[in-house]
Amino acid sequence: MTESRPESRRGLILINTGPGKGKTTAAMGTALRAVGNGMKVLMLQFLKGSWHYGELDAVEAFNGNFVMKQMGKGFVKIGGAETDPEDIRMVEEAWEEARQAILSGEWDMVVLDEINYAISYGMLDPAKVVAALHERPEMVHVILTGRNAHPSLVEIADTVTEMREVKHAYQKGILAQRGIEY
Ligand code: ATP
Ligand code: MG
Repeated sequence: MTESRPESRRGLILINTGPGKGKTTAAMGTALRAVGNGMKVLMLQFLKGSWHYGELDAVEAFNGNFVMKQMGKGFVKIGGAETDPEDIRMVEEAWEEARQAILSGEWDMVVLDEINYAISYGMLDPAKVVAALHERPEMVHVILTGRNAHPSLVEIADTVTEMREVKHAYQKGILAQRGIEY
């Protein structure tokens, strides 16, 4: 493509939310685009940890320019008193690392994968996330994924996409497929 590109760069906040499939994988596609532009991307996966996703191996090829880390156990018990304190501790740790990464200026893009779930499960205060996003260096792009994005985050985001489910293979009883779901 030959169209002219605007010179003024600024960091954006993107949210991929909604019930349809494609929130995490769209974030990874954007991350790949950024890495191809010479940018450094950190993707922190809240709550994830039990499955081994193909992307964890794929990003090894980028020599530290595209880093992905699982910050959870992969299965969370939710709902009031049922919430496992260990899960809350892991979300707090994930958030601390995320906050530092966003504020450090070391990364051009930080993807907070599934963070919307951590917030909607009451494991992370959205006000802390809003505050860190306001404080970030102005060039840093941040992508947040997961259903039920908090209204305070939607409000400060620049681009918000809601995935709508038309149909999903799961409804036909087809289990998660290698290369599609993991
Ligand atoms: P993906 O990682 O494939 O982009 P996602 O990030 O939009 O999906 P999540 O809400 O994070 O979806 O759910 C994680 C897992 O649940 C994925 O394996 C995904 O394929 C599956 N999934 C997503 N949407 C649906 C759905 N509507 N019905 C059943 N399973 C779904
Ligand atoms: Mg996801």
